[in-house]
Amino acid sequence: MVQHAFAYLSQQRFLGVSACGENASATRFGVAGVAWDGAVTNRPGARFGPNAIRQASQMLCDATHPLFDLTPTAQLRDHGDLFLPNTSLETMRAALEPQAKALLAQQHMVWLGGDHSITLSLLRALRAVHGQPLAVLHFDAHCDTWTDHFGEPSGHGTWVYEAVQEGLVVPQGVVQVGIRSAAERAAREYVNTIGGRVITARELRGLESPSQLAPITADIRARLAASGAPVYVTLDIDCLDPAFAPGTGTPEPGGLSSAQVLSLLEELCVMQLPFVGMDCVEVSPPYDHAELTSNIAALCVWTYLCARLAADRPAST
Ligand code: MN
Ligand code: MN
Repeated sequence: MVQHAFAYLSQQRFLGVSACGENASATRFGVAGVAWDGAVTNRPGARFGPNAIRQASQMLCDATHPLFDLTPTAQLRDHGDLFLPNTSLETMRAALEPQAKALLAQQHMVWLGGDHSITLSLLRALRAVHGQPLAVLHFDAHCDTWTDHFGEPSGHGTWVYEAVQEGLVVPQGVVQVGIRSAAERAAREYVNTIGGRVITARELRGLESPSQLAPITADIRARLAASGAPVYVTLDIDCLDPAFAPGTGTPEPGGLSSAQVLSLLEELCVMQLPFVGMDCVEVSPPYDHAELTSNIAALCVWTYLCARLAADRPAST
């Protein structure tokens, strides 16, 4: 199994939780790494994302969230990285999808990428396990709706288009946040044309607090709810401005602040919507000088988990 050796490198566990064990299905949430970056356009390195995010999560100490006042650690297992051949995208996906399905059958999963091509496989697995297409809340600088990857059918910038074509998603339930990269109009506005919603980074300028973002979060909530579909969150870390997240393969200036992304996650992920999982992708530690990117990535994953647990609490009187 030489081709899998990378996955055996020393791994700290997310938030210091236990590794997966016989009782994995007794806990609600699972984390797994997808250490793959063979489908990037520009700078490689996202294969190092999962362990960098785990490392950064260690500084969350007891992991008690200051807003939600709870910690997910008792309800969380870290399965380590999936065993993936570092060969072609097609071969990697053939290995990823059955492993993802097996984990999804047990737990509410959060995936640490990896480049964004992994999300197509994860949506295929989710579509199969839930038996219906998904709504997707997609944070990104890039629309990821390109119809080809420089002549190849699939890459890290094609998964939204492919997911729509394959019927993995409900078009009206696709909401994109932070979009700003150069792209032809047909790609940039693709999600609007199929009935979803593209919220550009420009549209979010100057809106940072929960109250400032309230009209945006209300719109997103209404769209996700109206889709009637299970909701999946995919967070491409390059939605953030490179000032906040420089460690990524295709940085795009003019992006969201950490506070903006955290406000959006805090407000949206605690809502009574049928969330079924999350991924955090494109964290590429080689381009970061101070672990900024893995820190905010760990914070985003932790916020999602805490918000989901908070959503289960009875409303306070
Ligand atoms: Mn992306
Ligand atoms: Mn991107």
